[in-house]
Amino acid sequence: MITSTTGPQPADFADVRATNLAVVLRFVREHAPCSRADIAASTGLNKATVSSLVADLIDRRLVRETGLTENRVGRPATMLVLDGSPYAAIGVEINVDHVSAVATDLAGERLLTWRRSFSAGDSVNQGVASVGAIIRRVVNRMAKEERQVLGLAVAVPGLVDVQGTVRLAPNLGWRDADIGGDLAKALRDPGFPIQVDNDANLAALAEQRWGAHAGASDLVYLTGEIGVGAGIILDGRLRRGGLGYSGEIGHVQLDPEGPECHCGRRGCLEAMAGIGAVLRKIPSPAEIQIEIEESVRLARTGDPGTLAALDSVGRSLGRGVSILANLLNPEVVILGGYYVPLAPWLLPAVHEELSDRVIAAEAGGCQVVASTLDHDAAALGGAARVLDSIDSGRLPGGLSRIP
Ligand SMILES: [Zn+2]
Repeated sequence: MITSTTGPQPADFADVRATNLAVVLRFVREHAPCSRADIAASTGLNKATVSSLVADLIDRRLVRETGLTENRVGRPATMLVLDGSPYAAIGVEINVDHVSAVATDLAGERLLTWRRSFSAGDSVNQGVASVGAIIRRVVNRMAKEERQVLGLAVAVPGLVDVQGTVRLAPNLGWRDADIGGDLAKALRDPGFPIQVDNDANLAALAEQRWGAHAGASDLVYLTGEIGVGAGIILDGRLRRGGLGYSGEIGHVQLDPEGPECHCGRRGCLEAMAGIGAVLRKIPSPAEIQIEIEESVRLARTGDPGTLAALDSVGRSLGRGVSILANLLNPEVVILGGYYVPLAPWLLPAVHEELSDRVIAAEAGGCQVVASTLDHDAAALGGAARVLDSIDSGRLPGGLSRIP
């Protein structure tokens, strides 16, 4: 709590109240159904404060009472659950050949999952115009359902600085592009915040909130596309680094004599363990899915060439994961994208490399698993990032009940 010799100023008071509202909302998210007494007991807030905060959250339709009562000695308690029915969080992933859009309610229930083909076009303007058109349709759909959009977060495959400017997205041909600002214009200042982030970062947030290892405080997500990037969560928080460029594990050099990487260097992890290394040639984006399915089919039939290629990619990937494990000691490294269907053939080599190369016993407890979220993890992570802002206190609506 904020204290000062002159007593709290109104602004401070509003801050404290917003923080406490967020604390209660998070508690309900994690422990619902729960009672006001449970909240008071666990958060240390007094009962009268909790009652007032809960009334405010009910007013904002973020929390609702259920008819359920807890069976305990004494007075039965009214139980609380998340409401959020009038709200939506939107996440969008821009990829080389498609845009994925996801909308969830406050509790993370999916309201919409779309995938639309997309071409970045000849300029950022063209690309933004087509992404903007897709987002406008999502926003209209939410409006039809009488939901207020809480925010939008857009995942871009590339370097995104901490201000959300896309510094370099080589596969889209974008450089120094203020995609958030351009989208706000394309959407005619929609009245909700727009955030832009790296795809691996957002996918890591989706895993932290909804994946098989949800709640893990030390987690790394690896995108398995033509490019390989890492989203890093340490001590429960996404770690972007000073300017926002952390996680470029794809350009760590594994072999100075290795194959050429599209960054112009040699033997980068992504040249040796990206999806391009699995396939005989890098197909057009539209053909990657087909080529991966063919690799899976050949691997199942025991085709020696395919098995050898997957083993070699698995070894390079394992070397990359060992670097992460030695450096960051994550509980889990989650393989995403096209690594998911190939995981049964990649993981044995990855595990061998890990046990050879990580100095801590048992690879420091690091597990390596395939993502259980679908191919739209980054879009889902966009919605997660919007919900994270709500959890950290940026609640919709004014503070109507400051006593
Ligand atoms: Zn490279």
